[in-house]
Amino acid sequence: PGQADRTTGETVAPDRTGGAREPMVVIEGVNKHFGDLHVLQDINLTVGKGEVVVVLGPSGSGKSTLCRAINRLETIESGTISIDGKALPEEGKALAQLRADVGMVFQSFNLFSHKTIRENVTLGPIKVRKKSKAEASTQADALLERVGVSAQADKYPAQLSGGQQQRVAIARSLAMGPKVMLFDEPTSALDPEMVNEVLDVMVGLAKEGMTMIVVTHEMGFARKAADRVVFMADGQVVEVATPEEFFTAPKSARAKDFLGKIL
Ligand code: ADP
Ligand code: MG
Repeated sequence: PGQADRTTGETVAPDRTGGAREPMVVIEGVNKHFGDLHVLQDINLTVGKGEVVVVLGPSGSGKSTLCRAINRLETIESGTISIDGKALPEEGKALAQLRADVGMVFQSFNLFSHKTIRENVTLGPIKVRKKSKAEASTQADALLERVGVSAQADKYPAQLSGGQQQRVAIARSLAMGPKVMLFDEPTSALDPEMVNEVLDVMVGLAKEGMTMIVVTHEMGFARKAADRVVFMADGQVVEVATPEEFFTAPKSARAKDFLGKIL
């Protein structure tokens, strides 16, 4: 499938049987400024169906802005972003639908504090996906089981550990039946002993074939779960490589410098 372009990532990684992948997220020529800061500079990246892309890069390089642009939490000035063949709408009903297709898990858990864990997971499916309360509840219980917090279903977020809350946040996103999941440093706010329980859920999702874009500093996760690593610096995609290539033979000086500091 196509000639691999080293920096733009226009070619997606093959699937686990070596086959071609259909594109799921296509980012083309995206630019954005914050005042004088050119925070996204002509970003091109295609993520295939079922592909796991880990985005690495120094703080301030534009990783969060890119994630937020993918579900229109940030506007873009030029370029296009499409999900499963559909261009991102600007606003309205279509945007709500699109956001439901793109799950996002942030560093802070963002659960509704005055709602129980089960209610946190059923709310979106009832409101946006128009599911019945009973149907949403059955699904929520299955998802809470899957992420290992079923015993906490009737509790409130503050009664759970950070790791448990983040697993609930993942379950809540999954309840919408997303086509792609974005994770922006999902374990950065957690106590170290809780990091793995969240990463394990993410590795499970990856194995089940979820399309995932993951911003993380967890290099173990990148090595284990990523099909490709995207390295960003100063608003640009500097390097796109397999984890093997990236960690053993980074090509750019910026990537070498970054790896030298963190490994
Ligand atoms: P990363 O996630 O890689 O650390 P971000 O995407 O959060 O980087 O930020 C990239 C740059 O854009 C940083 O210099 C940051 O200060 C700046 N920035 C982010 N959000 C805003 C905003 N809403 N207004 C102005 N500058 C911003
Ligand atoms: Mg960030």
